Amino acid sequence: MIPRMPDMNLTTNPLRLLVIEDDPLLADALCAGLGGPLAEVTHAATVERARVLFLGGRFDLVILDIGLPDGSGLQLLRQWRAQGEAVPVLILTARDALDDRVRGLDLGADDYLLKPFALKELAARVRALVRRARGLSGGLLEVGPLVLDVAGKQAWLDGVLLTLSAREWALLRALTERAGRVVDKDQLIRVLCDWDEALTPNAIEVYISRLRAKLRSERLSIRTLRGLGYLLHHDE
Ligand code: CA
Repeated sequence: MIPRMPDMNLTTNPLRLLVIEDDPLLADALCAGLGGPLAEVTHAATVERARVLFLGGRFDLVILDIGLPDGSGLQLLRQWRAQGEAVPVLILTARDALDDRVRGLDLGADDYLLKPFALKELAARVRALVRRARGLSGGLLEVGPLVLDVAGKQAWLDGVLLTLSAREWALLRALTERAGRVVDKDQLIRVLCDWDEALTPNAIEVYISRLRAKLRSERLSIRTLRGLGYLLHHDE
């Protein structure tokens, strides 16, 4: 029997979003644009208020502005991650604040958007992050048309079960867990180190090309970043 692809429907529970943004116009736009029957939006305009609201509620995702009147949003992020809070955090940064963006990702932000941004893009990123987080907690990983059942070691592309060798599975899992980010060849070699035989970077290339042949989709690709590694990319 072919294992049925797990249901990734997001509409079963409304999303609980915490929007931390001090610009009143932007905050109103975010609350109005993201809220609705599928999402409850809670708003905080300061670090202090955000801290209190976060303690009192369970959120599926936090949208975090960095420049706040009583401090930096990055303080909150650092504190939550130090406490082991895994809630997905999407940071909002000014277009020229590259350092903030890099620091935010280093501190454990899951994604970032540059201001100004289209609300539609923010909504798509929010959905993707929440799906990924819910998938992880349920043992499922989803990247666009690709779904992995981590416990069952099965993968589906557009709902069709993929036939993968053990090594192809391990590579695909490593790339999917870090989708949208670069995974270097050394990391992939370590992933495959459970097998006795020594692996060369060339061998990784061979497995990657086999995976590519199996992941035929217009919306999904394994990109090679010369000198850096590989990245699983999908178009929203
Ligand atoms: Ca601000």
